[in-house]
Amino acid sequence: MSRFDAAMEKFNFRKAVVVCLIVSVLAGTGSAGFLAHTFRDRLALADGYRRVSKDVGAAEGGLESMEPGWKRLAASSPDLVDILVLDGENRVVFSAKHSDLSQSGSLNLSEDRGGQNRYLTAGENPDVHFRLTEGGGLQVFRQLLGVDEETGRENRDHYFYEKNYSRQKIYLLSCFAGGPDGTKVYFIGDLRPAAGGRLSVKAAAALAVLLFMVYWVLLALWVYARALRAKMNAPVWGIAALFTNLAGWFVFLLYRQSRRTCCRCGALQSGDGAYCTYCGARLGAVCPRCHRPVNGWDRYCGHCGCALNRGKKDE
Ligand SMILES: [Zn+2]
Ligand SMILES: [Zn+2]
Repeated sequence: MSRFDAAMEKFNFRKAVVVCLIVSVLAGTGSAGFLAHTFRDRLALADGYRRVSKDVGAAEGGLESMEPGWKRLAASSPDLVDILVLDGENRVVFSAKHSDLSQSGSLNLSEDRGGQNRYLTAGENPDVHFRLTEGGGLQVFRQLLGVDEETGRENRDHYFYEKNYSRQKIYLLSCFAGGPDGTKVYFIGDLRPAAGGRLSVKAAAALAVLLFMVYWVLLALWVYARALRAKMNAPVWGIAALFTNLAGWFVFLLYRQSRRTCCRCGALQSGDGAYCTYCGARLGAVCPRCHRPVNGWDRYCGHCGCALNRGKKDE
């Protein structure tokens, strides 16, 4: 027996699986906490956005009753540029943060030249551009977190962006409420990536991949060790499980289930032999006269007709 096989026989897979599970749960919890900490400002902002856009539909005292809440949200988040309320003439009637955007007193947004892009420019602030977010809260949520692949790709690779705005300020803009008189409420956020965000997402993903690989290899080793114990072709079963994982493990279990196992040496036995082909142990009840296998409930041997004494069948 090779040293690898000897190690496999001794290895405690049950303990390894339990340890692997505990480490996975701890790592998952730790990663989630770490990511939540890294993106805490963004999560708070996204949650704030969700709340204000939900409250605005249910507000009974009109938009004015929402303003203290907007001010609190704006003060608490460094990533929130401003919440602006514009009247029908695009005059700024409320600014939660008194940002530069509100200084000129109005905000006239127009679509950038180029047609197909989703960027808007304000005539008052030609250096600032707005990326319009549509599709409700979820889209805004993803973009505020700044981890959205699509947003990143669009911002990096978008030819129009590269050509026109790579050195200019881009804000995220969402119009989350409007009135019949042309009133609009604009929610304006900064698209800065969270500090260390990309690195922490990569670290968490790497940890998850590592743990998944450990699980994958562990399952293949487990099948290998079990096949080894059953005197089967362990390398073939182990490699099959390494390539097919759960499917290979399942086929292994089915295969083992369909055969008999020697209770002395553990070898898997095919056919209907009465004795283990590996160690010679008797596999079950046999006829005392012809020594062929019989079922435990048979009263007479099916091969030679000998009467079977139930009490003595295992003599
Ligand atoms: Zn045996
Ligand atoms: Zn017999």
